[in-house]
Amino acid sequence: MKLFRKGSQGREVKDIQSRLIAAGFLSESSEDAASGTFGDETDRAVRAFQQHRGLIADGIVGPDTWRSLVEASRTLGGRYLYLHEPPLRGDDVEDLKRRLNSLGFYSGKENGIFNHSAAIAVEQFQRNSGLFPDGIVGTNTVEALLRLSRVTKPTSVASVRESEKGLPEGGIEGRRIMLDAGHGYPPDPGVIGSKGLRESEVAERIVERLGATLLESQASITYSRRRGEFLSEQERAAEANEQGVELVLSIHLNSSPDPNAGGASCYYFGRGNYRSPYGYRLANHIQDELVEELDRQDCRTHEMAVPILSDTRMPVVMIEPAFITNPVEEALLASDDFIARAAACVANAAGKYFSGVKARVE
Ligand SMILES: [Zn+2]
Repeated sequence: MKLFRKGSQGREVKDIQSRLIAAGFLSESSEDAASGTFGDETDRAVRAFQQHRGLIADGIVGPDTWRSLVEASRTLGGRYLYLHEPPLRGDDVEDLKRRLNSLGFYSGKENGIFNHSAAIAVEQFQRNSGLFPDGIVGTNTVEALLRLSRVTKPTSVASVRESEKGLPEGGIEGRRIMLDAGHGYPPDPGVIGSKGLRESEVAERIVERLGATLLESQASITYSRRRGEFLSEQERAAEANEQGVELVLSIHLNSSPDPNAGGASCYYFGRGNYRSPYGYRLANHIQDELVEELDRQDCRTHEMAVPILSDTRMPVVMIEPAFITNPVEEALLASDDFIARAAACVANAAGKYFSGVKARVE
């Protein structure tokens, strides 16, 4: 897909604007909407939408933001939901899974993907409600769900279930971990620093070093992509699901228009009332290591819903050890010493995680 940003024009921009208007982020009477140009108003609306959806708020409409705009327009009861290949996606599916989870029917991670666990949960719900258990969400099933959701308090079994399943203890030896270097140049360098350093290449170097360190502790390591390869975010998530790894560590770098912005941050999957309990735990372990051992400024841990975090079935942490847009940090990122120490921090944290150590904030 083409990328749309400030300055773009044409039929697609009008389409983007009408979806932003429907989602309540752009005013119908704005000058941008009247002229069909991607100006300041549309830029602001796109960034607000991205922030609201847990995407990276860069004002650029690429495949992830476009898909999110389409998904945002789906409401429960607006169409039939059932198991399909490729899976049906949308906010209606997310709403369905949230309701099923809060009623105690385990439908998996609360994302907008109608997968196998969602279909099983629907059948169980139907059986319990005296409906024909066909796994298809039509009018009767939606009505029964809405009726019951009103009288039940919203506590999700999904996070409880994740905690029970694959309890991370017993050490890192033999654990299947996928390492994911963000972006992939060509065609996608990620953010480029003022001295020309590419985010994609720094991520590759950290990932390679991290892989070597983790192999020493007998973990079983795979890579989403090799040096110089490119994969979309969704392809990475699909790869992790297919391989059935127990953990994904995704390396990126932070960026800001302010060249003085600096520090480290980590991200885990969370949206609405749901957050991945083990993603949260590991993100905090890694963050503590980066702050204490690597002496990074603490930009804290945050929940996000980008595809590598939301579309995967296992805990995933996205790690941004520094800002590539900060010249001081760009120089750090160019040094082998910093790369090795950052990798050691992540490896130490993964060791604690697989030994069942709780994070300081838990
Ligand atoms: Zn990135």
